[in-house]
Amino acid sequence: MPENETDRKKWEQLCKQCGLCCFEKTRLPNGRIMTTRIPCRFLDLHTRQCRVYEHRFEVGEECQKLTPQLVAEVDWLPEECAYVQWHKQQCAVPSVEQTDTAHRKSKKRR
Ligand code: SF4
Repeated sequence: MPENETDRKKWEQLCKQCGLCCFEKTRLPNGRIMTTRIPCRFLDLHTRQCRVYEHRFEVGEECQKLTPQLVAEVDWLPEECAYVQWHKQQCAVPSVEQTDTAHRKSKKRR
């Protein structure tokens, strides 16, 4: 989980509030996730906003708090989700170690 209050707010602000994650899902026999047309009972279908957002983890028994670790592990978030896109960007950026290793390998080939 983001460590300080500023990081937590930035994390929360990533959400586009599209509501796409707020529909029931089912796992198909082939293991893939299918999103149904059944919305969470707290989702306002007109605004796509959660009607109990501040208390969603107390009243929405299936609502899960998204963390960077959870986003990396789950397969039920929609592809369009801002957190999924964020995670893909994180994976695309090479670490310092990877960059150093690649640099060393290219030097050896010369
Ligand atoms: S799908 Fe992602 S971006 Fe959209 S409301 Fe859910 S958490 Fe936010």
